[in-house]
Amino acid sequence: MNLKEFIRDVQDFPKPGIGFKDITPLLLNPQALQEGLNQFVKLVEGKKLDKVVSMESRGFFFGPLIANAIGAGFVPVRKPNKLPYETIQQEYALEYGTDILEMHVDAIQKGDKVLIHDDVLATGGTAEAVVKMVEKAGGEVVQLDFLIDLTFLNGKEKLEGYTINSLIKY
Ligand code: IMP
Repeated sequence: MNLKEFIRDVQDFPKPGIGFKDITPLLLNPQALQEGLNQFVKLVEGKKLDKVVSMESRGFFFGPLIANAIGAGFVPVRKPNKLPYETIQQEYALEYGTDILEMHVDAIQKGDKVLIHDDVLATGGTAEAVVKMVEKAGGEVVQLDFLIDLTFLNGKEKLEGYTINSLIKY
């Protein structure tokens, strides 16, 4: 099964000039959803992981499925003021200005082995911020697994030294 066939290109979303990779057709198809999950589970075969950490909001589709399948806990990373309890924060650069991501202070224990998952690796800024936040909390980032890598944006360059996988590449 070729998962790429289930990704829809939407032009001019969320802004004119941007070609958006829409993963919802893949989520909608039960066989594609299962195949995606199987492939993600295979990527961590034989590795002992304590937590899967995913970013708001499209990381929340596969993140908990992977965590559940491999017997790990799930940690949501969110935009500021969304999480109810005490948080740690990480600032990161956007094209214009900066943004902040948050995670609950007690989500990662010292020494936790962590898989970071998101739907799309683009410039790598978001993933880099999550890596920093997990490490600040004492976690060890074992690898980063994405559904899609927009390789032409060279996101991997921001994540040098880390193991990075993706199921679909453009
Ligand atoms: P980066 O920080 O530039 O790597 O952007 C990655 C973040 O932007 C991820 O959290 C993605 O969900 C989101 N993103 C960027 N481009 C796309 C896209 O084409 N489709 C879906 N999400 C995207």
